[in-house]
Amino acid sequence: VPSSPNSEKLYARALQVMPGGNTRTTVYRAPHQIYAKRGAGCRITDVDGTVRIDALGNFTSLIHGYGNRHILEAATRQLEAGTCFGAPTESEIRLSEILCERLPSVEQLRYTNSGTEAVMNAIKAARAYTGRPKIAKCEGAYHGTYDPAETSQDASPATWGDIDRPGSVPTAKGTPQGVLDDVVVIPFNNTQVAEAILRASGNNLAAVLIDVMPNRAGLVPATPEFLAMLRRVTRELGALLILDEVITFRLGYNGAQGRFDIDPDITTLGKVIGGGFAIGAIGGRAEVMSVFDPSKGAPAVPHGGTFSANPVSMSAGIAAIEELTPAAFEKLEALGDRFDQGIRTCFTRNGIQGQVTGLGSLRRVHLTDAPLSDYRSTFAAADGATRVSALAKALFDEGVIIAGNGLLAFSTAMEEADVDEIIRGFDRVLLPFTR
Ligand code: PMP
Repeated sequence: VPSSPNSEKLYARALQVMPGGNTRTTVYRAPHQIYAKRGAGCRITDVDGTVRIDALGNFTSLIHGYGNRHILEAATRQLEAGTCFGAPTESEIRLSEILCERLPSVEQLRYTNSGTEAVMNAIKAARAYTGRPKIAKCEGAYHGTYDPAETSQDASPATWGDIDRPGSVPTAKGTPQGVLDDVVVIPFNNTQVAEAILRASGNNLAAVLIDVMPNRAGLVPATPEFLAMLRRVTRELGALLILDEVITFRLGYNGAQGRFDIDPDITTLGKVIGGGFAIGAIGGRAEVMSVFDPSKGAPAVPHGGTFSANPVSMSAGIAAIEELTPAAFEKLEALGDRFDQGIRTCFTRNGIQGQVTGLGSLRRVHLTDAPLSDYRSTFAAADGATRVSALAKALFDEGVIIAGNGLLAFSTAMEEADVDEIIRGFDRVLLPFTR
């Protein structure tokens, strides 16, 4: 384990002024956090000078790694011109033009500062548009921390209820019962059961919120039948389909909707579309997006935000998406495939019963060969997530950063040799995970 006296000192200071010394639950680590100093390409140097290969990219947002020239130049130019104004800038129009051109279902967009806010506004838009209160979401799927979006990710199976009727379980203590009552939880990829549950909500349902490859529910792709059912049933019930592409936009030139051939009413975006700066976006058909339109009096959904559409995020985002050429996607696919093959061989060599889920540049490692289809099977497979998180910790000490749940995100800053280095990291730590 590399020594980390500087991080230890920083953490001692942090403990005095931040709860648990932390401001972001997802980056907490015991016994103390490791503080980043610098990123270059696909590597991070921490405050003690230890260099690690970064296969997470700030939780999938840095698709071009650190220090991409085109993004740096665009952001710097904007920093000099002004970081934010109480006025719109041309950059928000340009980013919207690019996104509308790429995403077949999106005619118009608005911006937020995070994916959480994007999902929040998508839900509000659906409620305003339909005049209905309820939102359906898949059990275990993460969509940020807006109350209705964060339900049913509780890690204690005792609270989950029967698979035919998964409970609307609070994630944050103190969530009002009224919020939970308006969330309909459906089992991911279980077409028949999900359809029955949706139909039972009938004309109270404003929208179904779906991620086609939910990371926390296993990073297993949705089946075509499941997606076709959601589109058909939402139309029949007069509800909207919200596609959360905060992570999955990076699956292809036309986003997840292009790759999965799905036609949502509203799309939420974030992460990569800000080029490494804070961002979120809501997009959809002009008719649906008109709930935000302030030009004809008070809009159905007022939406502001002091830093929404700030021109630094817009400019960096434009540059990042311009760099996502068809060739860039080919490279990302190849890196993902190389990892897939490498890790399978590595599992065999170490006698590990493991598997990889995911597509393209997003992969998740599981320490089981049992079939994974949803949150429940994924949770059971990881022994309550503890074995995979121990693996991620061991990798970190060997110089490889992946998420605590086994998620990896490859970037255009990586080459084949970097993927091989990641695999060698796995090779050094896997043996204790044999059983
Ligand atoms: N939706 C999905 C699918 C996500 O993965 C995330 C973040 N990981 C969010 C929404 C929330 O985005 P943010 O962290 O920018 O609020």
